Amino acid sequence: MSSVVTSPQIDRADICGVRVHRVSRSQALDRIETFLKEKGPHLVVTADSSGVVIAREDEQFRAIVRQADLVTPDSIGILWAARRSGCPMPERVSGVDLVVDLCGLAARSGYRVFFLGSAPGVAEEAARRLSSRFPGLIVAGCQDGYFKADEEPAVVERIRRAAPDILFVAMGIPKQEKWIARYQPVLQVPVAMGIGGSLDVHSGKVARAPRWAQKMCLEWAYRLLKNPRKIGKAMTLPRFALMVLRKKR
Ligand code: UDP
Repeated sequence: MSSVVTSPQIDRADICGVRVHRVSRSQALDRIETFLKEKGPHLVVTADSSGVVIAREDEQFRAIVRQADLVTPDSIGILWAARRSGCPMPERVSGVDLVVDLCGLAARSGYRVFFLGSAPGVAEEAARRLSSRFPGLIVAGCQDGYFKADEEPAVVERIRRAAPDILFVAMGIPKQEKWIARYQPVLQVPVAMGIGGSLDVHSGKVARAPRWAQKMCLEWAYRLLKNPRKIGKAMTLPRFALMVLRKKR
């Protein structure tokens, strides 16, 4: 990784083996802007409780997160665990919000963005809505996340030719981070970031929880009610809580 601009060290909370940076939303954005100026490939992970549980069981995913350049506190569970560990976080820094902040930055500074993932048509619709919110946003390309294995080389080549500065990958944890880790050596995108279901939200396919639910830390419950298939993810919450509570302070 190149070092034209040097990044200052940021405190990190150790959440059951996953080291999460102590950043606010604006600090995360500043940090990512530094990555964009440094060029060289960078990985940004937004860590939630399910990610920590997956990292415990999946060695490959754990290694990828360990090498990430920035790991943000994406969920209320992470904020709780960080507080218990003695390294409280200023606020949640979610993938959904970072997509907004980064598209704003990209539109202001001329960075090119590529949206990869979600069902066919979703990335295009999210790109259309974000472009009208941020005039001047350069969308280098869109690609759904349901291509076949034999189509993968063509997808990678399309992204490489599009030469984005920011690659958003919406395929869910841990698939998206593994995809990035596998192809970053070829792609060399300055900032690649897994964003889970963010394109579903930004396309309007899935409604974000109302503000009151977000404020009361009930966004996860709202999402579960709206999409009962998320039960698998919700089931990781008690496991996460047990892991945190068992950890000595
Ligand atoms: N997805 C995809 N390809 C796949 C599996 C999932 O593009 O092979 C997309 C899916 O359509 C959804 C996103 O990945 O848009 C995962 O969303 P979810 O909210 O489940 O992710 P999380 O934030 O929970 O990791």
